[in-house]
Amino acid sequence: MHELRSLIRDVADFPKAGVTFKDITPLLAHADGMRCCVESLAAPWRESGIQAVCGIEARGFIFGAALAQSLGAGFVPLRKPGKLPAATVGVDFALEYGQDRLEVHTDAVRPGERVLLVDDVLATGGTLAAAVELMDRLDADLCGAAVVIELASLHGRANWHCAAPLHALVCYD
Ligand code: AMP
Repeated sequence: MHELRSLIRDVADFPKAGVTFKDITPLLAHADGMRCCVESLAAPWRESGIQAVCGIEARGFIFGAALAQSLGAGFVPLRKPGKLPAATVGVDFALEYGQDRLEVHTDAVRPGERVLLVDDVLATGGTLAAAVELMDRLDADLCGAAVVIELASLHGRANWHCAAPLHALVCYD
């Protein structure tokens, strides 16, 4: 985890003043670091019977697709508005820096399918809460969520209202 931290770069005042952006591109570029990251993300879920990993656009796609392969599960993209071609359901939510909306294909997850949510960063928790609501709309069986980075000072866990676990690999105060 120490090495993982060394592969996450702080970028001050991006995308706007006052925000410290957690840049994961050094991690993505490091083959061993990335393999270790994906294995660590997958470890708590190996016996959970996950059938679909739902990754949140955009960086959640990178970790989510790798995690899905590692767990032998399918991958489902949760996308920004207007990107998915077929029928969708969507949820609007507030971000640390702005407003956004997440959409998923209505047929992406079958009712009762065991799903895991994945993103790179848990900040205020609004994005993950919207993803939980999307899974509710599809009657999925939500097993939990995995994030690479948790920003504890933004109290995102307070927005996680599920009994299912939320695991973070590295937590910043
Ligand atoms: P939130 O909904 O506030 O938990 O924000 C989480 C989403 O916004 C994730 O998809 C992240 O990719 C992105 N995000 C929020 N804050 C940051 C940050 N400080 N550094 C990098 N990404 C962030």
